[in-house]
Amino acid sequence: MAKYWLNGTFVNKEQASISVFDHGVLYGDGIFEGIRFYNRVAFCLDAHLKRLHYSALAIGLTLPYSLEEFEIAINEIIERFSEAEGYLRLVVTRGQGPLGINPNACPRATAFIIADQLLSVSLQVRQQGAKLIIASTRRLPADGLDPRLKSLNYLNNVLAKMEANQAGVDEAILLNAQGHVTEGTTDNIFIVRDGQLFTPPVIDGALDGITRKLVLKLAAELNIACCEKTLAAYDLYTADECFLTGTAVELVPVREIDGRQLPASPGPVFIQLQKAFKNSINANMQNKLVTRVAS
Ligand code: PMP
Repeated sequence: MAKYWLNGTFVNKEQASISVFDHGVLYGDGIFEGIRFYNRVAFCLDAHLKRLHYSALAIGLTLPYSLEEFEIAINEIIERFSEAEGYLRLVVTRGQGPLGINPNACPRATAFIIADQLLSVSLQVRQQGAKLIIASTRRLPADGLDPRLKSLNYLNNVLAKMEANQAGVDEAILLNAQGHVTEGTTDNIFIVRDGQLFTPPVIDGALDGITRKLVLKLAAELNIACCEKTLAAYDLYTADECFLTGTAVELVPVREIDGRQLPASPGPVFIQLQKAFKNSINANMQNKLVTRVAS
């Protein structure tokens, strides 16, 4: 059963609501993080809190709680959750104010955390690979909204997801205004060619994904050559392997893009990285458990 923390208090589902005057609802004026926990330990929590802090700085939002207070709330909601594994959504909005876009009219930010399950990818897709399309909806330009800012503005991602639904596939990839590959609707994208790993640079319009960063680190440790490179649709169609990364999706192989079958799904590089990813989840759990026992 889902658990809810709202502005410092654990509440039930009926109480877990915010005002119609909240600027997060009225203008998408807010930021968020999606965080997974395994065996009651939040994964990459420091990285998520750091990104939340930077998103808040970027939009001039004073967080209503310190990062330490958020960490305590996160650990407590994980303890209260019915299962040892799940997903957290931490949202901070500009808070309540009068109608009108001015953020200065909102005296205090609203913060909430939901703990729940998020079944974004079926077992079949995890095992056999996802089908993708390249959406006609473009990613918001990086000079309009910095892609590193994890804001509540997801409407063009929603529109791209609708295109995927209509095409009967699992995910849509958004290009930027120049036609370069950016990312999926809620995930980053990687390709493999001749044993080398490539992912689009953040500046092309990709979120600075925490899973993306971890995969780049794991690849370096495994001596898999990897680099950030501007990619076109052509690079996806002609890749040896392709996969998606994200907190919700974790690592998911891709088997088809715009009707073109990829040679391997899951491919050998994916399998290596997937194994290393699982090891880092286990290492994260062990470290945190040891720290808790020691303190
Ligand atoms: N891109 C977008 C648009 C996302 O919403 C997400 C999910 N947070 C990602 C990429 C993956 O980022 P992360 O690995 O930090 O979850």
